[in-house]
Amino acid sequence: MKTKLNLESTGTPFNTLEKNVTRDHAEQNSDSSVIIRSRGSEKVTVRKWTEKKYKSKHIADALMEVAYMNEEWEWYKKYNYTKTKCLESFVTGDGKAFGHYCKKPWCPICLAIRKSIHIHQYYPIIKEWERPTFVTLTAQAQNHRDLSMWVDLLFDKLNRILEKLEMRRYRSGSEKFRCLICIECCFNPEKNWYNPHFHIVTSNYPEGRELREEWLKAFPTKLAHPVAQYIDPVRDKLKNLVEVIKYGAKILTDAETTNKGKRERLPYIYASALHEINKVFHGRKLIRKRGFKLIKNEDEIKELVIQDLQSWSYDDFVRTWVNETTGELLTAPYIPDQNLVSIYENNLDYKSR
Ligand SMILES: [Zn+2]
Repeated sequence: MKTKLNLESTGTPFNTLEKNVTRDHAEQNSDSSVIIRSRGSEKVTVRKWTEKKYKSKHIADALMEVAYMNEEWEWYKKYNYTKTKCLESFVTGDGKAFGHYCKKPWCPICLAIRKSIHIHQYYPIIKEWERPTFVTLTAQAQNHRDLSMWVDLLFDKLNRILEKLEMRRYRSGSEKFRCLICIECCFNPEKNWYNPHFHIVTSNYPEGRELREEWLKAFPTKLAHPVAQYIDPVRDKLKNLVEVIKYGAKILTDAETTNKGKRERLPYIYASALHEINKVFHGRKLIRKRGFKLIKNEDEIKELVIQDLQSWSYDDFVRTWVNETTGELLTAPYIPDQNLVSIYENNLDYKSR
């Protein structure tokens, strides 16, 4: 009898530009081999994820605390899922690793996987653009009560502008307006303000300039000041793409005060602000493209026959994965450095924001 294992393959770090990942499943054969439908990825990748797993657990814990205080049980469940299910266990065989992932935007493991997938999708396109340009568009910061409505408004304004620019090009018979859009939200703890903003790459400089001009026209100056709307030609396409593909909440918030450009204290995790942003971004498409199609991934999912399957589970004490049969550790016990401990275990702020 074949057993469905409902596994997913692990992601690869974006900088290696290796094959990436998809949801998949596996079936157990009568012998010890298992058929897994997947692009597969390397077991060695998981070794690098002890730090991300440590961060993921602590962030999920902090968010659970907030959801508990707010009595928001649905959210409590979502955060608990990250803590207890994301890469808690996986199986390996033939140098590949397959496991369960939470796929939540607050999870550092899943964010890294998403980022890798997006780089694979968008880099082949953006590298062909002649003069890609990086644009940041923002408008007045808001408190948490108005944030959701404000994000609606920002998307609405941006969509109208893009439709106008697309129509302008269509009428003049020129090339389509092409861009990649990500939304991100920062939090200012001194003022309890939220600042959602767009990171956009346009395919050339005039598109970027037009976009910025139209954005400024769409808001009164006191709501969207020219100095806050940046435009910059992309110098390193891969590096800038990595910078653009930031979306969702910034998990760490730096201190505003600096001494000669140096940070005077380590960043903080404002858990309740992070939770507010998660709620506002929930169900929204945080990364969007206009005017171009994605290149079909020729890395079709293949059936892999994996021999010698081994199971590993995460152990909170050694902070790495332990072989369920042999007791072998996947990596040396993970010891976070002092700064990470300070941030993820001490610099947590739960105050309602
Ligand atoms: Zn996750």
